[in-house]
Amino acid sequence: MVLDYDVSSINSLGTGGKAAALIRADSIEGLVSILELLDSNSMDYVILGSGTNTVFPDGAFGTIIVKLGKSFDYCSFKDDGIICTGGACSTQALVMKAARQGYDLSPLAGIPGTIGGAVSGNSGTGSWGICDYIITLKAIFKYNDKIVYDEIDSVNIEYGYRYFKLKGLIAITELMLKTRKDKAKNILPVIHGDVVKRKISQPVGAKTCGCFFKNPSGIKKSAGAMIDECGMKDFYYGGAKVSNKHANFIENSSNATSEDIVVLSRIMKDRVKEKFDTELDYEVKMIGF
Ligand SMILES: Cc1cc2nc3c(=O)[nH]c(=O)nc-3n(C[C@H](O)[C@H](O)[C@H](O)COP(=O)(O)OP(=O)(O)OC[C@H]3O[C@@H](n4cnc5c(N)ncnc54)[C@H](O)[C@@H]3O)c2cc1C
Repeated sequence: MVLDYDVSSINSLGTGGKAAALIRADSIEGLVSILELLDSNSMDYVILGSGTNTVFPDGAFGTIIVKLGKSFDYCSFKDDGIICTGGACSTQALVMKAARQGYDLSPLAGIPGTIGGAVSGNSGTGSWGICDYIITLKAIFKYNDKIVYDEIDSVNIEYGYRYFKLKGLIAITELMLKTRKDKAKNILPVIHGDVVKRKISQPVGAKTCGCFFKNPSGIKKSAGAMIDECGMKDFYYGGAKVSNKHANFIENSSNATSEDIVVLSRIMKDRVKEKFDTELDYEVKMIGF
């Protein structure tokens, strides 16, 4: 356990102050014990993956960050297209390993972060998301005031566009995914093409947390197109900037604080509300605010 942990080093925006502590768990039993302790003491905690979809507050804040350690970073492949992966496995590492062995996870190409983080927001592209692949999920839950380890079938999972819900869920530890099988030589070029497309259309390499807002439902225009039509590309607030490449990305362009990022996001929301009478919802997770 590390006290007063500087969170700017564990999220892709590179902002935020000091969390009360960071704890790494390296076994199911260890994770259950930690969660029992935190829960029974009513402590504020969060499970964190790679921090590529999160914003933390500036200054000191009372949240305890729990990360899954290396023993949750694994994957294995079965003949029938089934992949078993740990919650801390890197989504990109999994996509590439799968492709080389003839398992097609190409719709996840270019999405940073961990598998646990991906499931928790049903990460994907367009209306498609990782939850479409899930057969079973192993996780730690809180059921009737007890912290328990359980396995859930996909029929019990509620999910949709960048949305995932599972009653009592605390930490996703393992997934079974069912994928299409194909030859590596057919899958790899698709992944390569998607990654190239991202480099052209998104500020890949800049400090961002991906799309800040969800695309509003029932409207053809994307959140990015609306923000762009408000003339906000390159708009600055403090050290935060609306990306010039993709208006739904906020960049930490020069030592931004989380406050700069959040205030800029509110200005973007207000401008879109004013021009399109549409309320944008956050895709990113605000932790500890
Ligand atoms: C350049 C860039 C491009 C991106 N492109 C896309 C894209 O195309 N599509 C897309 O959907 N997203 C995209 N994202 C956003 C982000 O990468 C994804 O949402 C990613 O799946 C988050 O994974 P993470 O491990 O970083 O999650 P984190 O940011 O660490 O956490 C996100 C949420 O998941 C929860 N969580 C994390 N791990 C677990 C776990 N094991 N158990 C339970 N809860 C957990 C956290 O509590 C938090 O609420 C992009 C981000 C960047 C920076």
